[in-house]
Amino acid sequence: MSSSAPIVYTVTPSRPAAHEFTVACEIASPDPTGQTLRLPTWIPGSYMIREFAKNIVSMTAHCAGRDVDVTALDKCTWRAAPCEGTLTVTITVYAWDLSVRMAHLDQTHGYFNGTSVFLEVVGQSDAAHDVILCAPQDPSCEGWGVATTLPRAGAEPWSFGRYQAANYDELIDHPVEMGTFDRVTFDVLGVPHHVAITGRHDTDMERLTHDLEAICREHITFFGEPAPMESYLFQVMAVGKGYGGLEHRASTSLICARADLPTSDTTDITKGYRKFLGLCSHEYFHTWNVKRIKPAAFTPFDLSREAHTTLLWAFEGITSYYDDLGLLRSKRIDTKSYLELLGQSLTRVYTSSGRHRQSVGASSFDAWTKFYRQDENARNAIVSYYTKGAMVALCLDLAIRAGTNGQRSLDDVMARLWANWKATGKGLEEDELERVAMDVSGLDLTDFFNQAVRSVDDLDVAAALKHVGVTLHLRAAESDEDAGGTPPKNVKGTRKESSYLGARLRASGKDVSIASVDHQGPAVEAGMSAGDVIVACDDLRVNRADLVRTLQHKQPGDTVSLLGFRRDELQRFEVTLCATPKTHAYLTLDEDPDAATRARRDAWLD
Ligand code: ZN
Repeated sequence: MSSSAPIVYTVTPSRPAAHEFTVACEIASPDPTGQTLRLPTWIPGSYMIREFAKNIVSMTAHCAGRDVDVTALDKCTWRAAPCEGTLTVTITVYAWDLSVRMAHLDQTHGYFNGTSVFLEVVGQSDAAHDVILCAPQDPSCEGWGVATTLPRAGAEPWSFGRYQAANYDELIDHPVEMGTFDRVTFDVLGVPHHVAITGRHDTDMERLTHDLEAICREHITFFGEPAPMESYLFQVMAVGKGYGGLEHRASTSLICARADLPTSDTTDITKGYRKFLGLCSHEYFHTWNVKRIKPAAFTPFDLSREAHTTLLWAFEGITSYYDDLGLLRSKRIDTKSYLELLGQSLTRVYTSSGRHRQSVGASSFDAWTKFYRQDENARNAIVSYYTKGAMVALCLDLAIRAGTNGQRSLDDVMARLWANWKATGKGLEEDELERVAMDVSGLDLTDFFNQAVRSVDDLDVAAALKHVGVTLHLRAAESDEDAGGTPPKNVKGTRKESSYLGARLRASGKDVSIASVDHQGPAVEAGMSAGDVIVACDDLRVNRADLVRTLQHKQPGDTVSLLGFRRDELQRFEVTLCATPKTHAYLTLDEDPDAATRARRDAWLD
């Protein structure tokens, strides 16, 4: 059935202190046999069943002044009894999730994704969906404004009032921020871009917009003008400690540490600021790669259950490859800084032995139950489709460049995918990216994809990089905090080979506990397990720092005696340490490459 009257939602931050939004949904022409309503169980971009309905704390319905019965059909679907006239269903939503995936409300600000608050009116998803955003009545919320890319339909800019989405799919793709954010507007190739920062911060907005302008310009130019959105909004929540982002069709929601935002007392791009710009670059690239070019399995989205695809590596991995490359190409960072980031990305793959048990295609498919539900065994069992996907993208890019004498690259593959999407709007079939890559390059990449995407064998990253005059080095980790990307700090010859326990340690009160154990290595051989609380090493009481220091003074082959509790039962573990495996990557430019190699390197990095 169809309806010309829009669905009208009225969203009120009714009880900020109790973290409650009240959301009324008015349906002018409800299904005469009883209107079905449902709420998504997941949000596009975050591949985990989150069952947003768990936060609905009350639901009532009325029609023509009378109450209407609502019956739950399953965990996310309800049916209102048949009625004549406008049906209004009102829910109260508990909003206390400080992430970019759900909703959050208190006296400092309000934020929601449509997937958390907008019931879908089954049968009328293609109708226009109006949203009336009401200002909170709570006096502590005075002066609040609104930052969203929901198209305005009467609301003044940055204000409460009436907005309208063309359909339900669009409705849930424009998150809404409300509060007393700081904002700034800048132009990128004729497209207005905005940054709205909520939370306490001391950001140099001029520096930030200067850098974002360069990054956005790079990505728009990469895919070609015109940009596919009329405007764009970076919705930033600055907190003490946090990191995360979610992409939308014309905006991104970001959470970052306020210390990562740029300040006016320095012009340096700190590591924290570089990380934040990388996040912005990543989410912005998604505007094309996953928000428009997307798997057929997402076209349309079925938000009631998992949507399986083996292609997440292409959407997250290729995006991860281009996010840092975009910082280099837009001249926000130099080659040395880029190679450090690439080395860190490779390190994250090499430190996970799960790469030998799960292919990146399988990691994509099983994201719902594995990547998004990591436990103490994750490192042994799974590979990240972000980091391994970025490694595949790097190797694919270099393979196409090598195989076509530099005539083609991954850039051309992305350009073709974008042209195809613009022509058809169709989702990618599971094998389509591979077909397009082969078509664009003229190369038979069958073996490459079989190995890179469907096997658990390591890619020959070193050889691919050597061809462009870059050397991949692998070294031992120097501490648990060592992220790789840089040469060893210890000067050669001053330090013996470091020893390795085969487990990660976590401080727990005055004790040290085992966070995870390698499925092959000294700790598991000695019978240790994640969760064990270690209290003594060689009969001396230890905390985390003590144990780390003790292990640093040992040699590979030495034995330590660890005493610890599993549950309340004391255990003794005799552990024979091994040499620390070389899992940490760093990259160096070859000093005197031949002219052809130098030309290839310049084509890639300049
Ligand atoms: Zn992403």
